[in-house]
This record gives sequence, C-alpha cells and structure tokens, in this order.
Amino acid sequence: MKVSIIPEHCIACGLCQTYSPVFDYDDDGIVIFSQSNKRELELPHEPNIIKAVKECPTKALLLD
Ligand code: SF4
Repeated sequence: MKVSIIPEHCIACGLCQTYSPVFDYDDDGIVIFSQSNKRELELPHEPNIIKAVKECPTKALLLD
C-alpha cells in the first residue's frame, strides 16, 4: 500500500510513531518517514500503519 505524508499539515502531536516506527520526526517534531526522505512510500499492509493514518488529527498521513 502507498502511504504519503504531508508535513505542511502536521502539528507535531507525536501520535503516529506510537502506532508505528515507520513514522519519525524532524528536529521540529514534524513527521518524516524513518527509513526515507521521500514523502510517499510503498509499505506493507500493516494494521498499525493504517491505524496511524486514520488517527492523525490533521490528515497529514494519507493512504492510497
Ligand atoms: S499524527 Fe499526524 S499530526 Fe500527529 S505527528 Fe503524526 S503526522 Fe503529525
């Protein structure tokens, strides 16, 4: 599944990494992928990643 991050929408709440280590943060606490500096990644279909996407309060994470 394809997951996208929209750092401009991130409010640095820190929630997504509590669901999955796929997500990390820059020095300002804004979401990045831990394994890549891309904004879009092909990731395994894992429930914890899907949960992170759904729970993001500002829709800064998207699932395709
Ligand atoms: S859950 Fe959303 S708003 Fe919170 S840190 Fe992650 S991407 Fe940013």
